Amino acid sequence: MEREDAAPASVRPATSGRAPWMVLAASLLLTCAAAALTAMGARSHDNERFENAVQSAGDRIRARLEVYLTALRGAAALFASQDSVAPEAFRRYVDRLDLQRHYPGIQGVGWTVRLRADTSGGAAEAYEIRFLEPLDRRNRAAIGYDMYSDSTRRAAMARARDTGMPAMSGRVRLVQEIFGPEQAGFLLYVPVYEGSRTPPTLATRRARLRGFVYAPFRADDLFAGIFGTEAEPRVSFAVHDGARADSASLLHASPIEPGHRASFEHVESLETAGRRWTVRYASVRGFEEGGREPLVAMIFLAGLVVSTWLFLLARAQSRARSAAEEANRAKSAFLATMSHELRTPLNAIAGYVDLLDMELPGPLNVRQRAYLDRIQRAQHHLLGVINDVLSFAKLEAGHVALQRSDVPVPVVIAEAEALIATQAATAGVRFRDDGGPPVSVRADPEKLRQILINLFTNAVKFTNAGGSVMVRWRAEGAQVAIEVEDTGIGIPPDRLPHIFEPFVQVDADLTRIRQGSGLGLAISAELAHRMGGTLDVRSAVGAGSTFTLSLPAADPRRS
Ligand code: ADP
Repeated sequence: MEREDAAPASVRPATSGRAPWMVLAASLLLTCAAAALTAMGARSHDNERFENAVQSAGDRIRARLEVYLTALRGAAALFASQDSVAPEAFRRYVDRLDLQRHYPGIQGVGWTVRLRADTSGGAAEAYEIRFLEPLDRRNRAAIGYDMYSDSTRRAAMARARDTGMPAMSGRVRLVQEIFGPEQAGFLLYVPVYEGSRTPPTLATRRARLRGFVYAPFRADDLFAGIFGTEAEPRVSFAVHDGARADSASLLHASPIEPGHRASFEHVESLETAGRRWTVRYASVRGFEEGGREPLVAMIFLAGLVVSTWLFLLARAQSRARSAAEEANRAKSAFLATMSHELRTPLNAIAGYVDLLDMELPGPLNVRQRAYLDRIQRAQHHLLGVINDVLSFAKLEAGHVALQRSDVPVPVVIAEAEALIATQAATAGVRFRDDGGPPVSVRADPEKLRQILINLFTNAVKFTNAGGSVMVRWRAEGAQVAIEVEDTGIGIPPDRLPHIFEPFVQVDADLTRIRQGSGLGLAISAELAHRMGGTLDVRSAVGAGSTFTLSLPAADPRRS
């Protein structure tokens, strides 16, 4: 025999108090995990975006300087092809370049001629700016200036002269800075030698240098020219001349965004015409706002809101469960008390009724005996009702233990029949056993008998004298169906769906005569359900009712 005890109700509340906190912890953990994963993804995605932005900014600067160099090489070719270039020819050449349009940021294109040579490459050389186009106010200030007299310019000029390659100067203050806010400047030189070719040796290059085609740049104007067209800059940058990034070497810096701290930074070197620039890039506010990092905060916030909501929900449920459990405990306590308080005096009544019935205190007259019969019936009925209420309450509370075994159907039916036989005979109702196959069901024999007695009792109770009750059973797949049919009063269709509910009686007046609690079918249906079966009914008023109890068939392999 196997025994299944329902868990006592008092075991559950201990865990239910912790449940909301566990829900909260799990939900917060999930939130953190989701936020962390998103943060990791967002960081690497934003990093990639930043790298791309840096790359494209660097490319723009390099490409633009390359374009300037090409323009200067073109002008140098003009000088190399002729012994002397007339100012008009130079102006036309520069005009054709259309500096404003194609070379924004360039201050001008000029020609500085060598006045005196120092073949040792020393400082004794002298130059003079001859042409500088466009010849505006600023550029006019530079005409005639000997750039070789300044050490920064001299270093670049000497390098260009000695290598035969274009050279870029370090940071200078242009002589053009005659008005307005000053900007840092630098110059690009392309050497021009006698003859159309660059002389092959250092000595010949020093000896045959005629001068330089050059371009002065105002750094802020240059970078505004390169990046001024950007609608939404993603990086800011600071360009320093040389390897050191300090204020003395600063050529240009993007405007400062007040209160903004860049989340990405990158420093790289940029090499042009033999000179190195150090560029420090940083992400700007617009870049950060377009990034995925705000998503992390959003996920985190949403997670917190959902977690709090789940916690409150779980807590409300837990409280409702506790309240229900508390109510259940109160009900059990009440029923236990009722069981004791009502059954004890009822048993006392039964005892005294028995004593009177046995005429121990003295003989009874006819009327007294009739009264005693009524007292006895009322006492039986009351005890029956109390017992029904108690067993239903126990069943509902899960306090009923089932002990299942293989129960032979013909045997259990015969037993129940025997118990009902007298009642049927008294009521003038014929009881007929139509039989069925010799099958067994898997059930608690006590509970099965209880169901059958309830069905038989009802059938007899609600069938008038002269009617009959038939019982039969059959195997239906893995189930055995036991049918109890009567030719009784029947049940109206509108009441039929409710008769398995507790305390439902179709006709209270009638039932008072027939005596019942309205709990028998509720208990039977619940027991059938607990044993893995069902209890159904078919009925027609005046024609009778058929109750069908289905239970799992016993496993033939076990027997
Ligand atoms: P009771 O103790 O009143 O019999 P039950 O739960 O066993 O309680 O039955 C509920 C009601 O269902 C009965 O009061 C009766 O009205 C109806 N009923 C049950 N069995 C039959 C039947 N065989 N024929 C007609 N009515 C029935």
